[in-house]
Amino acid sequence: MSMNILTVAVLSTASFAFAQRVVADDEPACWNRANILFEAQELEETAHHFGEILLTIPEYAHLEAGAEELTEEASHFQEAVAGGSSCHHLQADFYEIYRAGSALYYDVLDTHNRYHNPHIVQDWNDMVAAYDRVRLEVDRTREHVESILEERKTLGLDKLILR
Ligand SMILES: [Zn+2]
Ligand SMILES: [Zn+2]
Repeated sequence: MSMNILTVAVLSTASFAFAQRVVADDEPACWNRANILFEAQELEETAHHFGEILLTIPEYAHLEAGAEELTEEASHFQEAVAGGSSCHHLQADFYEIYRAGSALYYDVLDTHNRYHNPHIVQDWNDMVAAYDRVRLEVDRTREHVESILEERKTLGLDKLILR
């Protein structure tokens, strides 16, 4: 798949309405807080690890700022879950993880295409898998929403796996 097709597929379909969607706090959502928290911690850990590994490989070290931003978003999300933030807040925070992850992906891909470091590939894909598990938990809180099928496609980072 070419870079252009990926860019169009991911960026043009990313709905900014997602972050602004108002979900009433009395909606029967966010019921699986324990799962969301567990997966959020996994994501924060994999993002943190990815940032640390980047620093040990000179060709990738310039990506650290983007990885740091992603880690901060994942950390904030995890704290918001632990602190009992509203569903609306969590969904908006989750969108910020998606935004930071998508931006980082294009920088990582550019470097990846030149160096193909296997440790980077493994750690990035582990992180994407963790992201995807959080996404499924966040989506599950809103499965009664008719438009969720469309959003599942647009917010999936599964298309961002490095090969
Ligand atoms: Zn927040
Ligand atoms: Zn590693």
